[in-house]
Amino acid sequence: MTNLTRYDEIAAGLAEVEERIADACRASGRSRDEITLIAVTKTYPASDVRVLAELGITDVGENRDQEAAAKAQECHDLPLNWHFIGQLQTNKAKSVASYADLVHSVDRSRLVTTLSRAAVAAGRELGCLIQVALDDDPSRGGVRPAEVFALAEEVVAAEGLRFGGLMAVAPLGGDAGKSFTKLAELAQAVRGRWAEARIVSAGMSGDLNEAVANGATHLRIGTALLGRRRPFVR
Ligand SMILES: *Cc1c(COP(=O)(O)O)cnc(C)c1O
Repeated sequence: MTNLTRYDEIAAGLAEVEERIADACRASGRSRDEITLIAVTKTYPASDVRVLAELGITDVGENRDQEAAAKAQECHDLPLNWHFIGQLQTNKAKSVASYADLVHSVDRSRLVTTLSRAAVAAGRELGCLIQVALDDDPSRGGVRPAEVFALAEEVVAAEGLRFGGLMAVAPLGGDAGKSFTKLAELAQAVRGRWAEARIVSAGMSGDLNEAVANGATHLRIGTALLGRRRPFVR
């Protein structure tokens, strides 16, 4: 039997998030079906992933390979798309390529090469987004805006990979609206060159409104759905 209390909690979180997305869509004249809601399940158990799937969630996001691999395995019977949204070490690429459908955090050549090799070996096609450091500071992951096109060329040319578009996290303490406007401009330039690269992954619990206003196609929402994460110790 499912844990009813947790089910109700998550259902309430989801209803609230859907209301916020609907409001944001209304405010910017967009349609809800242009947007994919990715439930970020990091630090939460596979049982929560099951509840989310029961509630109609089709996409889940994780940021650490070890945790993600185990959860994807436990939930292999569910019809879910798995998104890898965290900084990715090359030595984890092989594992990630075995279960992820879309990697949001491609930010260097070495990773493109390694993911390509792993996808080919696994006989899979792996979707890749280039993560952009909107504050021009790649220390928290992402490439500088000026480097996006060169890296995109590499993804497009790599066997086993499919270039899907861009991802960004709003810089800490910055104006999310301004940052996402910059991302939208970059995404438009990218689509001008590669029409199929339509994904704009932006927007978390605190800034989904700004993300929707700036053309986000994928929202990555954790806290607002599942509650505040316990700080974890690595
Ligand atoms: C954790 C995480 C999220 C979700 O953040 P919330 O504020 O909990 O919604 C989104 N994107 C990335 C890259 C994350 O690591």
